[in-house]
Amino acid sequence: MVDGNQRFIDGTTLHYKFYPHGDTKDIQDQEPFAIVLGCSDSRVPIETIFDQSFGDLFIIRIAGNIVAPSQMGSIEFAISKFKTSLVVVLGHSNCGAISATIDECINKTHLSNSLYSITDRIKPSILPLIDSGLSNHELTHKAVETNIINSVKQLQSQSPIIKRAIKNNKLEVIGANYSLKSGAVDFLT
Ligand SMILES: [Zn+2]
Repeated sequence: MVDGNQRFIDGTTLHYKFYPHGDTKDIQDQEPFAIVLGCSDSRVPIETIFDQSFGDLFIIRIAGNIVAPSQMGSIEFAISKFKTSLVVVLGHSNCGAISATIDECINKTHLSNSLYSITDRIKPSILPLIDSGLSNHELTHKAVETNIINSVKQLQSQSPIIKRAIKNNKLEVIGANYSLKSGAVDFLT
């Protein structure tokens, strides 16, 4: 993933073509080498920023890269079915879900119940930062990072399947932060 992100930044991507027209591997079966829990943001197309192709990444996308039961279930499915040994929680700079949650915490903006189900899971990452005297920009940056770390911790601690795989040295769960500006992914753990 590190090499793929570097190719993406350098403009030297491998230009995969869709099988059977091109050179992409046969996709009858899948054997993804990583699971990515990323944000839905249209500016963060996950295969593209890691220069990966069909069958490489098992991706779950949801605003704010939060961990809710269906995300956890999808990850458990991939670990059990494909023996994938890496989970990456991928957040990004200027995340709209993080900004919306900050706005809700500070200005008490009203959201729909469906949106609350997302922001309620981001709030624990933000509330401790609200009175820390950070500028708006610093607060958003710190909140993005804290939210990534909290999602990693939730995955590591709340799923018996994930816990067992980690204990048996079959799985690693790490966080990463994508910069919209530079295109670089900073692996946090
Ligand atoms: Zn986002």
